[in-house]
Amino acid sequence: MVDFEAIREEFPILNQRIHGHPLVYLDSAATSQKPQCVIDAESEFYRTINAGVHRGAHELAARSTTAFEEARAKVARLVGANYEEGREEVVVTAGATAGLNLLATAFGNASLGRGGEAAKRFALGPGDEIVVSEAEHHSVLLPFQELAARTGATFKWIGLTEDGRVRTDNLDEVITERTKVVAVTHVGNTTGAITDIAPIIRRTHEVGGVFVLDACQSVPHLKVDFHALDVDFAAWSAHKMYGPTGVGFLYGRRELLEALPPASFGGSMVELAWMDKPAQYMEPPARFEAGTQPVAQVVAAGVAAEWLMNIGMENLEAHERTIAAELLKLGDIDGIRILGPNENENRIGTVAFDVKGVHPHDVGQFIDAQGIAIRVGHHCAQPVHRHFGLFASNRASSGIYNSVDDAKALIEAASRVRAFFK
Ligand code: PLP
Repeated sequence: MVDFEAIREEFPILNQRIHGHPLVYLDSAATSQKPQCVIDAESEFYRTINAGVHRGAHELAARSTTAFEEARAKVARLVGANYEEGREEVVVTAGATAGLNLLATAFGNASLGRGGEAAKRFALGPGDEIVVSEAEHHSVLLPFQELAARTGATFKWIGLTEDGRVRTDNLDEVITERTKVVAVTHVGNTTGAITDIAPIIRRTHEVGGVFVLDACQSVPHLKVDFHALDVDFAAWSAHKMYGPTGVGFLYGRRELLEALPPASFGGSMVELAWMDKPAQYMEPPARFEAGTQPVAQVVAAGVAAEWLMNIGMENLEAHERTIAAELLKLGDIDGIRILGPNENENRIGTVAFDVKGVHPHDVGQFIDAQGIAIRVGHHCAQPVHRHFGLFASNRASSGIYNSVDDAKALIEAASRVRAFFK
């Protein structure tokens, strides 16, 4: 049995009062709080190791490189990726958005003929198709929409069911022989719905396309194994999985990473550089990690990954399911509508809701006055909100440190909102 009350004690930030109430943090989909071990790892790195990685002959540089690569291995183990030297499948990025832009830029470079014969599988042009879903965060929608605009490819999307799940009943129509790239979210950041990605991946591979997973909202909540899922690429952020801000990761199946041309250029990604002929780039992951890396943050993200593995993602999943069950009671309150599935199946504890007649910013402020942090706005997912006939909503999202009592506190506060604003 995992003691989740004890785990909550590992988060110093939660031990405070907001507007006179104990803080209830229900905004983990935006960013998670950090356990003491992650906070310590970052400062310990600066106190004892700090040096550039993969450079210099001195001892600190060697220790820094070891710590960086060990962190990469821990993160890879969390998501079922290879980490042996020469077979690494996890690239360090500045976050999920950066990882998705890296991919879109690299596909664009392949479309310009960069990367030679091997990269042709990523090349796009007029007549080819890029497919996303209507559930996407803008960080998936926009890089791939831009890629379509740059290459002349057609931009298409998979629609949503009435309750906001990514449809899987018309995949043969949307994903066709012309489809080269399909990018879909694993878990909706507004609806909390877990996408049934297996048939989408199967169909993508059937037509010879590349499947990109936005794993931002799945890695912190579910046990994921990218090999077992058979995804080609996946991007996520460290700051949502109890790690530091400013870093994220891009998974790529090794053989695909080896074929992918680089997206950004500079130091530490090149084997040989000349004035009068093209450079020879390094093998992955270095090929995609131009410039000085955020080593302290990566090391701390590795600590977060190890900490999660020690707790056990299955245990975390079960714990958060109890909180989701309570949060879904928001839908029982008169005048409150949930944007997403109402049932506690194939979803996580991210529950967006609309309070009839009350602007989300007013709702957020009223709830904040009770010491409860939720997110208001469109959560960088405007098409999802349009699907529900709204521009903005309120969103409660759970994390490892939440309890059923936290959800109860929100329900109690939410049940008073409409009367207050009457
Ligand atoms: N995708 C999803 C589903 C998200 O929830 C987020 C963050 O809100 C992102 C992508 C972008 O992540 P970041 O802002 O950390 O790059």
